[in-house]
Amino acid sequence: MAPVTGSRDGGTGGPQGARLPSVRPDLGALSGYHSAQVDVDVRLNTNESPMAPPAAWTEALGNRLADVEFNRYPDRQATELRRALARSHGVAPEQVFCANGSNEVLQSLLLAYGGAGRSVALFEPTYTLHGHIARITGTGVLAGRRTDDFRLDLAEVGRITASGDPVITFLASPNNPTGRAEPADVVEAVLSLAPGLLVVDEAYGQFAPSSSLDLLTAGGAGSDRLAVVRTFSKTWSMAGVRLGYLVAAPEVVEACELVALPYHLDSIKQLAGVLALGFVDEMESRVALLKEERGRIAAAFAELPLESWPSDANFILFRPTGKEAKSVWSDLLAASVLVRDCSEWPGLAGCLRVTVGLPEENDRFLAALTESLR
Ligand code: PMP
Repeated sequence: MAPVTGSRDGGTGGPQGARLPSVRPDLGALSGYHSAQVDVDVRLNTNESPMAPPAAWTEALGNRLADVEFNRYPDRQATELRRALARSHGVAPEQVFCANGSNEVLQSLLLAYGGAGRSVALFEPTYTLHGHIARITGTGVLAGRRTDDFRLDLAEVGRITASGDPVITFLASPNNPTGRAEPADVVEAVLSLAPGLLVVDEAYGQFAPSSSLDLLTAGGAGSDRLAVVRTFSKTWSMAGVRLGYLVAAPEVVEACELVALPYHLDSIKQLAGVLALGFVDEMESRVALLKEERGRIAAAFAELPLESWPSDANFILFRPTGKEAKSVWSDLLAASVLVRDCSEWPGLAGCLRVTVGLPEENDRFLAALTESLR
């Protein structure tokens, strides 16, 4: 993205030399994070849930909308929502901060703890937005590498965390776009190496065999420096609502509240979140179905000319071996199947990522992929 230079003149007056300012020079080097929003039959590019929320949730939300006082600002403390989330995780409401998607949770953490002269640590390839939001907030990024099979290398974690004094160390678990979750002992080891706050982004946490929430609620050494971030966008089928949260020590929640705009969580979103928590069984059965489908895709991959990596999430990273990733991506698009092209992301040459969809969507994807790789 080229920086906007603002050199147009001929405006509506103002002092001599008045002009549209140029944007911050440090933003010029940042390009946006966008996945194509193309109209296709089978959309497997943004790790959303392929299913609508339960009909009973939609109905309950519709019924309760009439009670919303639309002329009043929402509950600034999101009391009911935080209480419900706290109950679901066995923590206190003071340990929960909610925002507009987990991306805004990450932004709040970076606004509170990052900034000029400070840095964060992360291990690539990982979720691009950790580094991207850090840079937007003027925070330095200490970027380490994962191993060739995308695992964390604790020696590298030690080297990177000791190379600066990162205020935050980020892990995504399961890691996007590579798929694997970090086992609890690895998270504990990273916590013992990180000098500041360890943020474990569990956007796909419900698909994984373990969660760092257990580490946090167990209250062991360093658990007051651990924040776990979650979202309603994936397993809860609510990407359109934009709701995410973190669970951490009350001090971390207070820090995020310092930088959150007043009334940033609208009344409908708060209500939608509270109601969703009444549908845990439905959510879990969706997760089970998607995990089964993930296994089916992985088994089909084993028969195709491609390399792929084990996934604990609702997506799988793969690298076609006999054909350029971009041309496979185009073949899929021609068959009206959209996947994510990661082939130009650092450390991911030749890779594509597919989100697990409904059984019939996965069938379409596998048929189109088989045809492309034939
Ligand atoms: N973290 C990770 C690892 C993600 O993959 C995503 C979604 N792409 C997010 C956070 C952001 O999710 P949301 O803002 O929709 O909660």
